[in-house]
Amino acid sequence: LADWNATEVDYGQPEPVHRRFERQAAAHPEREALVFGDRCLSYAEFDQAANRLAHALIGQGVARNSLVGVAAERSVEMVLALYAIQKAGAAYVPIDPEHPEARQQQVLMDAGVDVLLTHDAVVNRLPALGDLPVINLDQLDVSDQLASAPDIELHPEQRAYVIYTSGSTGKPKGVANTHAALFNRLQWMQAAYELGEGDVVLQKTPYSFDVSVWEFFWPLMVGARLVVAPPGDHKDPAKLTALIEQERVTTLHFVPSMLSAFLTQDDLTGCASLRRIVCSGEALPKDLQDEALRRLPQAKLYNLYGPTEAAIDVTHWTCGQEERTTVPIGRPIGNLQIQILDSRLNPQPVGVPGELYIGGAGLAQGYHGRPDLTAERFIPNPFKPGERLYRSGDLARWCADGTIEYLGRLDHQIKLRGLRIELGEIEAVLREAAQVTDAVVIARNEQLIGYVQGSQADTEALKVALKQHLPDYMVPTHIVALDAFPLSANGKLDRKALPDPELGTADYEAPQTDTERTLAALWQE
Ligand code: AMP
Repeated sequence: LADWNATEVDYGQPEPVHRRFERQAAAHPEREALVFGDRCLSYAEFDQAANRLAHALIGQGVARNSLVGVAAERSVEMVLALYAIQKAGAAYVPIDPEHPEARQQQVLMDAGVDVLLTHDAVVNRLPALGDLPVINLDQLDVSDQLASAPDIELHPEQRAYVIYTSGSTGKPKGVANTHAALFNRLQWMQAAYELGEGDVVLQKTPYSFDVSVWEFFWPLMVGARLVVAPPGDHKDPAKLTALIEQERVTTLHFVPSMLSAFLTQDDLTGCASLRRIVCSGEALPKDLQDEALRRLPQAKLYNLYGPTEAAIDVTHWTCGQEERTTVPIGRPIGNLQIQILDSRLNPQPVGVPGELYIGGAGLAQGYHGRPDLTAERFIPNPFKPGERLYRSGDLARWCADGTIEYLGRLDHQIKLRGLRIELGEIEAVLREAAQVTDAVVIARNEQLIGYVQGSQADTEALKVALKQHLPDYMVPTHIVALDAFPLSANGKLDRKALPDPELGTADYEAPQTDTERTLAALWQE
């Protein structure tokens, strides 16, 4: 086990990754850095624009260690904001405009951002912000700001970004990640996958997920081109294919569910430029792996594993190197260690399932403003005094060759189409409602089903309440009101005995008009 964790590698002195970008900009100012729609910025143009914005932010009081919110759609301004915030010495907090107002507000309040950056596309959709200073980047004139980088000393242990994930007690929690951890993760990725100047990386992951962090920063550290997909296009396989073909994208990320949707297209000839497909976020099924390797043979396929709490990814696997029955999550990346432990923190022998713990250079500072939760999940490392281990809640086991197999979750956190959901967070919203004495949410056949105890509960009203508090993907497809929850012999909730929702069939009415008859016939077919 010690050998498998001997991952020490010297990636150089940790530094904020935007410094690497600045050196690229100085060395190759004319090269194309950022493409969005018909806009294209060279390395020099992008660097100078980010510098100007950084100086403007500093002028507004943003300082080392500030937190700055960003509420934006994918755009040039969004990427500029992320770089400028770091250049100003601060850390960014994505406030996803796709999320309901109540959740945006919750995140803003919890993070206590000093200022919120936004732009025309979302400024009218923002929640009530009280006296929080807001800067609309489309209206901000930075032309009189300095074009050179602000002279800010950043410590590697300072925060680079704070990303909120679903929290089991009903409130999203902010994970504060450091520059040192991000540096290590991106240096590993570069050493492993060798992005070159001729490469083109597609940015399509919503910026409230940490996968987006490598998409934003890795390409510009090494002189490659960053192509930002238009808002919404990440969900549309045909549009993605067209963009890949047009921009000759070489490198992109898919959560496995989206890779599967992508591969339903008959014609992938437009994807000839693809060289690297990086999967992560949920288990990569073997059949999907095989199909991807078969249909896109010119591209390498990678399976990465990791939580937001450990700077994006902590293990890696290159698919198709050898015949296996499942796709493993592979081995720890540089300077990270994986421990698979029993409930007393003893290492499990090879082949025996246990909880996966993460140690080393990737660990987050912890949860923003939550020392209690941080202490619970980031525990003292029993094998390396003075260091910490992050307790992932994932079940895994070592294989005999030192690779790791992912086996599932130990708690009620789930992944639905790659999105991380604490079922407890949905339950907390349901429990708030009138007439509801208890609530439980389960995932069955890729759908969320919410059960409330209290037969008087108004399930339609519950759905409305859920939509006000939670992003769409967390709102259960069905809500079922029960008199009482089924219990097992020892008095615990018997999840398996929860009834399937009755799919209310509306009273039958025969089709009336020609159009209705044609439609009905089509559906019957
Ligand atoms: P997130 O913080 O959104 O990245 O979610 C982290 C969780 O996603 C992990 O704790 C795992 O449960 C799951 N996960 C991430 N990557 C993988 C993978 N390659 N295979 C299986 N599960 C994964």
